[in-house]
Amino acid sequence: MRIAIISDIHANIEALEKAFEIIETKSIDEIVCLGDIIGYGANPNECLAFVREKTSYILLGNHDEAAIDLSATEYFNPYARIAAEWTSRELTEEHQEFIKKLPYTLELNGSFFVHASPFQPQEWHYIISAADAFNNFPYFHSEVCFVGHSHVPGIFCEDIWTQELVRGKKFIINVGSVGQPRDGDPRLSFGILDTDTWKYENVRSPYPVQKAVEKIRKAGLPKVLADRLLEGK
Ligand code: ZN
Repeated sequence: MRIAIISDIHANIEALEKAFEIIETKSIDEIVCLGDIIGYGANPNECLAFVREKTSYILLGNHDEAAIDLSATEYFNPYARIAAEWTSRELTEEHQEFIKKLPYTLELNGSFFVHASPFQPQEWHYIISAADAFNNFPYFHSEVCFVGHSHVPGIFCEDIWTQELVRGKKFIINVGSVGQPRDGDPRLSFGILDTDTWKYENVRSPYPVQKAVEKIRKAGLPKVLADRLLEGK
C-alpha cells in the first residue's frame, strides 16, 4: 500500500492543489491528513472542503482546534492569534461542526499518525530534537509514527542514525508542511510511505507561492504571515 501523508496546510489552497497534482501521479492508495488544515492563510473554507473531499483520514491540529475554541489560542504568538480569530470568523458553521469531531490519532496498516506527538497528543508538544523524539518512542507501538506540527521535515530513528527506513526499528517521521514550510526551503513538503517496499519519500515542490502571499495581504492578515511563505520560515 502507498500512503501519502500531508500536514499543516494552513489555508494555503495554492500549495494544497499543487500537492494533490503530484499525489495523482504517484499511485497512492490512501491519503492521511495530520491536521492544521487552517490558520495563517487566506483560504480556510476552500482548504477544508478540498481535504474533506479528497482525503479518507483527517486528524485534528492545534490550529483547527483554535478556530473553534479561541481559548486554545492562549499560548499562540500574537500573529497566530490574530489569524485564528480571523479564521474563526470566516469559517462556515458546517466546517466548524466537522472539526469538532476530528480525532487526535490514527492507526492504519501498521503505522501510527498524530499531529504533534504520540505522548499527550492533545497537549501539542513539539518534536524538534533527537531528545524530543527519544522521549516519544515509548508512546506508540507500530514501527513508524508520522507527525507534523513543527513544519520541519525530518526522520528520527530510536537507536541508529539513518535517513532511510529500516525494518524492525522504530521511527518518527515529520512530513513537513504543505502550506507553510519552516526549514528555510519555501517549497511545499509532504510524505509518501510504501508499506510493501518499506520506502519513505519526502516530496518537495514549488507552487504558486506569490498568489498565496497576495491573498494573505489582501485579507488584512498580518504581513509577516505572507513574508514567511517566501522565505520558508
Ligand atoms: Zn501547523
